[in-house]
Amino acid sequence: MVERSKSFESINPATGELVGEFPIHSKAEVDAVVATAQRASYDWANLGFRGRNLALKDWASLLTHEMERAADLIHRETGKPISDARLEVAIAIEHIAWAGKYAPRILGRQNRPSGLLMFNMASQVQRVPFGVVGVIGPWNYPIFTPIGSIAYALAAGNTVVFKPSEYTPAIAVFLEECWRRVSPFHGIFSVVTGDGATGAALTESAVGKISFTGSTRTAKKVAASCATRMTPVVLECGGKDAVLIDRDADLERAAEFTLWHAMSNAGQSCIGAERVYVHREVADEFKNRIVALARELKPGFGEGAKYGPATMPAQLKVIKSHIEDAVARGGTFLLGDQNSIKEGYVEPVIMADVPEDSTAVTEETFGPTLVINTVSNMDEAVDLANATSFGLGAAVWSKKNGKRIASLLQCGMVSINSSFSFAAIGSLPFGGVRDSGYGRIHGAEGLLEFTYPRTVVRPRFRIPLEFTTFNRSERADRILVRIVRLLHKRRIR
Ligand code: NDP
Repeated sequence: MVERSKSFESINPATGELVGEFPIHSKAEVDAVVATAQRASYDWANLGFRGRNLALKDWASLLTHEMERAADLIHRETGKPISDARLEVAIAIEHIAWAGKYAPRILGRQNRPSGLLMFNMASQVQRVPFGVVGVIGPWNYPIFTPIGSIAYALAAGNTVVFKPSEYTPAIAVFLEECWRRVSPFHGIFSVVTGDGATGAALTESAVGKISFTGSTRTAKKVAASCATRMTPVVLECGGKDAVLIDRDADLERAAEFTLWHAMSNAGQSCIGAERVYVHREVADEFKNRIVALARELKPGFGEGAKYGPATMPAQLKVIKSHIEDAVARGGTFLLGDQNSIKEGYVEPVIMADVPEDSTAVTEETFGPTLVINTVSNMDEAVDLANATSFGLGAAVWSKKNGKRIASLLQCGMVSINSSFSFAAIGSLPFGGVRDSGYGRIHGAEGLLEFTYPRTVVRPRFRIPLEFTTFNRSERADRILVRIVRLLHKRRIR
């Protein structure tokens, strides 16, 4: 008798309603799915860029037809407003289309110059898929985030096994169902569901690469597990993104966009704004503007709600502890306070003058809270923005100095006079440095990430001077030295 998997429930965090019940896949089941994906990987790679692009285009088109169903599932599993869910699906579709279209251009074979010493050789670099890529996804953007790995890995010729967060399995299974309807054959894209142990099993399986999105704490476990098999990893972790506001900034737009940057999706964005450093000459005006706008924000699940509940209830404790720490260290409230944390929801909280060593400034809060600290100049803002263990994204608001300030920030992505926009641009790499992870999804870099380079050389014709043989002549030695001298010997300054 086949042992039945245990199961778990996906629950709407806003209403407590059941969204669906899903199996907790065991290690043996994960290994079996990976083995099927491994077998399918040869045919998928052999299908070539054109064949894969056709399948990805069909998938993008089907998801466009099914956008409302997908958005509804995301809405119910995460609690986020339906319009935000729709936006997420739309951006995910864009990424699928981009990856399929540009893969041949980025990953096609490249001829490289062979140099004078090896001038008779033809040199080439080929990009080779890893076989099976394991994708471990988070709950905050349950389709947009994993698609940044799934679509790019598929376009590059890998098959994919995806383990979604235990909070958002339904949308992942829906994604898989849609794929099956357009898939040329079985085993190209599969979903395994379960908890952290299922994710751990994927990292221990025979995948050729893991792409993980989630907390830095779990990322370290994933990297350690992968290290035992020398499985390469891409890690997209959290952040503590800063917004820098110069005295010449358009304050009306800076306030409007920074509020969205900080509070959309209930602040549950890895690239969400958590800290603002504003020039003292415009600090009061900026604070007044953003607080006035934030007063209008209402969390909830129904019509008119601007953001939803904390998808993961345990996060409420983290948010509360950061607010309490900020206050205990002398921070002040511009809007809301500890009592803004309600059953499941957090109303907007804006704090000011919070000491830089408070957990509200140093750790990822992942809630609709924002710290606004005042600086004397933009150099101070840059120093404070960089004084973090993270390095994911940032935003700069300045009419004249945006590019200069952006160039000084130690992070993977910067928006100037805008927020978040890089995430929706297929051609741009997405990722961070330090505790925010390493490797990149999206863009050319994201496609390259899911392949390894294979160098291939062959002689185009034979020459009398051959260096890599025991039959090398003295004449060849002399000529070698002469060529190197000719090429590289110069007077040293
Ligand atoms: P985790 O990092 O714990 O989870 C992310 C994914 O990893 C989930 O699919 C999870 O599965 C899986 N996982 C958990 N343990 C393991 C393991 N040992 N090996 C492999 N995979 C594993 O994030 P949480 O959901 O617990 O969120 C905690 C915090 O992480 C948040 O408060 C936030 O600060 C941060 N976070 C950041 C995100 C980002 O986009 N950068 C996204 C999500 C969270 P399962 O959910 O089933 O346990």
